[in-house]
Amino acid sequence: MVNTNQSHVVVIGGGVIGSSSAYFLRQAGYRVTLLEKDALGSGCSHGNCGLVCPSDALPLAGPGAIGKTLKTLFKRHNPLYIKPRISPRLWFWLAKFALRCNARHMLQAASARMPLLESSLHLYQELLEKEQLECEWQKNGLLYVYKDTAAMEGYRATDAFLTKHFALPAKRLEACELYELEPAVADDVAGGWYYEDDAHLRPDRLMAEWKRILLEYDVDVREGTEVFKFKRKGINAIGVLTRDGIIEADKFVLAVGAISPRWEKEIGADIPIQPGKGYSLTFPRPQYSPRIPMIFPQHRVAMTPMQTGYRLGSTMEFSGYDKKINRRRINLLKSGAEPYLREPYGEEVVEEWFGWRPMIYHGIPIIDTSPRMDNVLVATGHNMLGLSMGPATGKLVSELLSGQPPHVSADPYRLFHSK
Ligand SMILES: Cc1cc2nc3c(=O)[nH]c(=O)nc-3n(C[C@H](O)[C@H](O)[C@H](O)COP(=O)(O)OP(=O)(O)OC[C@H]3O[C@@H](n4cnc5c(N)ncnc54)[C@H](O)[C@@H]3O)c2cc1C
Repeated sequence: MVNTNQSHVVVIGGGVIGSSSAYFLRQAGYRVTLLEKDALGSGCSHGNCGLVCPSDALPLAGPGAIGKTLKTLFKRHNPLYIKPRISPRLWFWLAKFALRCNARHMLQAASARMPLLESSLHLYQELLEKEQLECEWQKNGLLYVYKDTAAMEGYRATDAFLTKHFALPAKRLEACELYELEPAVADDVAGGWYYEDDAHLRPDRLMAEWKRILLEYDVDVREGTEVFKFKRKGINAIGVLTRDGIIEADKFVLAVGAISPRWEKEIGADIPIQPGKGYSLTFPRPQYSPRIPMIFPQHRVAMTPMQTGYRLGSTMEFSGYDKKINRRRINLLKSGAEPYLREPYGEEVVEEWFGWRPMIYHGIPIIDTSPRMDNVLVATGHNMLGLSMGPATGKLVSELLSGQPPHVSADPYRLFHSK
């Protein structure tokens, strides 16, 4: 048990960001209510690839991204796809994304993401001990595997960048060294780059554990409770409206992931987020499972070997809040893994899944106070790395609401109040 002070915080959204925030707020002594419209952990935090990966600190917007990525975006067979449509919001987002595709902004975004990534890796390890977190955590590193030598050499620039700015060098592995480390790779890959310190876990197990832990600490977790709007008094919120009536509190956290833009009017600011739809396929764990997760950058597919399963995931589709599972696109996961692995996937599919990543154009999460309500903190925009940045985001949210010194600077995440 933790001590309770008189202040009550309502957290809206039970994804990895809302759950982590609820946990650290409770640790700080607040009485906490977490409101989730569906089941806790049923959003984007459910079926993602489970990689906890500071090595992936570089944002999507980088030098050359326009040429490499946007040119192929309208092709249906490409893992990155934009559904052609008239959407001023989307085109505005893309224009802002394009303006960020340069070395200066890439460094700025990576520098903002890295403290949350490093701190979260550390916090996960603390949570494993302190809360007996059973989420199939494995610290086996992460491999970036290439089919051809030219593409593999292309990664040298990224390695040099991460080494220079973040002291994060990768180990370059020739094909024979790669087989030795991970015999599951196919015979004819060119080689890979290895980050030894990355980790992975099973996301749905993590979310089930968050629920257990929050309940054990007497957090009032209310599933099936959608929040419609805030009730305000002057420059503060005093409650939230749900189907069951108004729930009053002293402070609020809005952590609703990709759905955040629907709250723009309420919080009084633009939330430049697009839902970036991704898919995953989960199989039973194969008899001879790979040990180390892999990313195949040439096909933009990731493979995660979990203790109780095996997952292929990826694709980035900007098609609005579309809930359909597109068979052609989900099959890209299989064809994208085939060139790299001896047994890329099994026959039996345990789960086909999609999630909407909360994609902000510059790749830097928003952890900032609403311009309209002084006691409402917005935490969203974690793009492709919400699982990797979850615990540190939750801790920072708690520190900002409590007026405690933040363990990482909050300045980079103040989108609404940046000059
Ligand atoms: C294919 C794929 C692979 C990925 N792989 C990785 C990876 O390997 N590593 C990594 O770090 N990240 C990965 N990600 C990204 C990661 O999943 C997201 O960044 C993260 O889950 C976002 O968490 P969140 O809490 O912001 O959003 P969510 O998990 O979507 O949570 C938001 C919650 O808010 C609830 N909600 C919304 N509106 C309301 C309302 N009005 N009232 C109450 N509740 C509401 C929703 O139901 C939802 O449960 C991946 C994503 C995808 C799609």
